[in-house]
Amino acid sequence: MTRLRVLLFLALAAVVACRRETSVFPNAPVILISVDTLRADHLPAYGYGGVETPALDALARGAIVFENAISQVPLTLPSHASLFTGLLPFQNGVRDNVGYRLGKEKATLASFLRGRGYSTGGAVSAFVLDHATGVASGFDFYEDRVEARQSGQAIGEVERAGAETERLLEGWIGSLPPGKPFFAFLHLYEPHAPYSPPQPFAARYAGHPYDGEIAAADSITGTFLAFLRSKGLYDRAIVIFLSDHGEGLGDHGEDEHGIFLYREAIRVPLFVKLPGSRGGRRERRATALVDVFPTIADALGAKAPAGLAGSSLLGAVAGARRTYSETLYPRLHFGWSDLASLADGRFHYVHAPRPELYDWDSDPAERKDLAREMPAPFRTMRIEITAMDRPFTEPGISDPETVKKLAALGYISVTSAGSGRNNLPDPKDRIGALTRLKESSRLSSEGHFEQAAAILRELLRESPAMLDAREALARVLRQAGRPAEAFDALLEADRLAPGTPQILVGLADLALEKGDVARARSYAMAASAVGAAGATEVSSEAALAAGDVAQARRLAKTCLGEDEQSRPCWILLANIEKEAGDLNAAWSALERLRRLSEQGRRAPIKNEEFLRGDILGRMGKNSEAEAAFRRETLAFPENPRGWTGLALLYASDGREREADRTLEDMLSKSPRPGSYFAAARTYDVLRDAAAAARVRRKAAALFPGARDPGLAAR
Ligand SMILES: [Zn+2]
Repeated sequence: MTRLRVLLFLALAAVVACRRETSVFPNAPVILISVDTLRADHLPAYGYGGVETPALDALARGAIVFENAISQVPLTLPSHASLFTGLLPFQNGVRDNVGYRLGKEKATLASFLRGRGYSTGGAVSAFVLDHATGVASGFDFYEDRVEARQSGQAIGEVERAGAETERLLEGWIGSLPPGKPFFAFLHLYEPHAPYSPPQPFAARYAGHPYDGEIAAADSITGTFLAFLRSKGLYDRAIVIFLSDHGEGLGDHGEDEHGIFLYREAIRVPLFVKLPGSRGGRRERRATALVDVFPTIADALGAKAPAGLAGSSLLGAVAGARRTYSETLYPRLHFGWSDLASLADGRFHYVHAPRPELYDWDSDPAERKDLAREMPAPFRTMRIEITAMDRPFTEPGISDPETVKKLAALGYISVTSAGSGRNNLPDPKDRIGALTRLKESSRLSSEGHFEQAAAILRELLRESPAMLDAREALARVLRQAGRPAEAFDALLEADRLAPGTPQILVGLADLALEKGDVARARSYAMAASAVGAAGATEVSSEAALAAGDVAQARRLAKTCLGEDEQSRPCWILLANIEKEAGDLNAAWSALERLRRLSEQGRRAPIKNEEFLRGDILGRMGKNSEAEAAFRRETLAFPENPRGWTGLALLYASDGREREADRTLEDMLSKSPRPGSYFAAARTYDVLRDAAAAARVRRKAAALFPGARDPGLAAR
């Protein structure tokens, strides 16, 4: 090619790149829907026949459907951080679900739109997208009240039903002044594990619960889009539908996501529907979630902030495009090598200790690694990724302010174990460890805590840096009624990842459970210092356990000051007032809670009905108390307080037989150490020494090593 021809080619390319194929839509409503963990090849819009998704099919028919859209990280928080900032993870600083915060100084899609006069609202369904992560930056309204079902639940599993999230976002849109431009973000978590679709999808997809969850998410999306239509908003809105990452489903040895960057984990659905759009079309070029921000700016006729990693999908793109993905998860959670990858829509290069290359045209399932032949794309992509400046940042303590605060509290005396940079194992050589991790979780859910703990200890002997196994061990030991050992296991996790907010909250919680109130209070302070979600609650509980009612009440009110509609904060206050003997104040806190639950049509929260029953019982309203305790046992059979409250109520009525039967029911419905100890303590109160001793003997035989912490089970 002559020099002139090259110049002409470049000039032409520039013209092509600039040519707009659509008009702009200033002030159009912007709707962004993210269905978590939805791999593209499990949607009919991408050729899948195993599920019906009428709402998404209809949306796709009027949209541009991108065939090769790539997520930047196969993890919820960092993927959404890339989506919202339009920056790659090492540019926006959010590399994992825990231990990283999105800095306030980073421009986000929401802050950009707010700056253009938009109202900005979001509603999310997973705790990992809590506002404490910084991801709510720029939103006027951010509904993230996602409550844990039980203490010590793995944070990735703390979710709420998408239908509830959708209703909350509808409520916000309905409250906006007519004609005001707005940006609405809806996040649904249905397809994320554990897969337990609601009816009718559970029945319709029996044996395929992941697809059932996708069908459920489709139905909720359909409700939302119908709402927009009913308000006359749909046709004039920019609607973008996507997922944050895919799901392994065992294809390369990973069931869920986070460790690998194979196509099933990073290829996501992406639909862009423009206002007034009638027909759709499909595009095969390489696209990325970081393109969404500039695309929205472009559609509005606005100039996107400088320095974004992606580019608008509305103009034609000249030249080759490579999308970047990474995961630090194997390194941070398992002590294995981190991974990065580049994809150009056809070839996919995975940068690992033993690098891989796949050709999606001939091998979409990535079964045939072409790296050995070292074809040209392998060499050029390897050079490109090696030359990228992708600094590794440690989780938790990367923020100097936080380090200072923690040091003042006596923490961070140790530096991170840091899973040293070199010679880390290749995740594909170690993936078998996941099977064992999963086996231990199955055993523990069936009550076989000893066997579960044995597997985890063995894994930790082989790989001491396996953070996930340490956290899992702490959870298993806690359920096994061994909070002191659970605390020690979590302390090891804290050493691996110092200052991780959820670990600090967990340590405070466990210290409380094992009766070490002083340590509980100091870990609660550390958790507050790092801005951990739930820090104020655990601080208040620790103060109450220390007998400092005034401080506990102050903290509960701080909790409500931060969020007046937080149900866990109202539970906290009701419990404190009850303990302080102020039944009227406790009752009015519960009434407030009931109104919140009714307004939001939300399921009861743990201990809500127990507290109601307890107060009613003290007021002498026994039949109402009985009904409340019953509701607690039905909604939370694993919470001993509902059962023991009921048993004590029966006993006080002279109905000893029913009291006995209630405690037996508890042991059969929730055969865990906590239930046995609670039953024994109830017999102590009822002065039935023989029954108490019998239950304790049985607990010792079933759960060797379990100890009754002697505190009321929380
Ligand atoms: Zn996710």
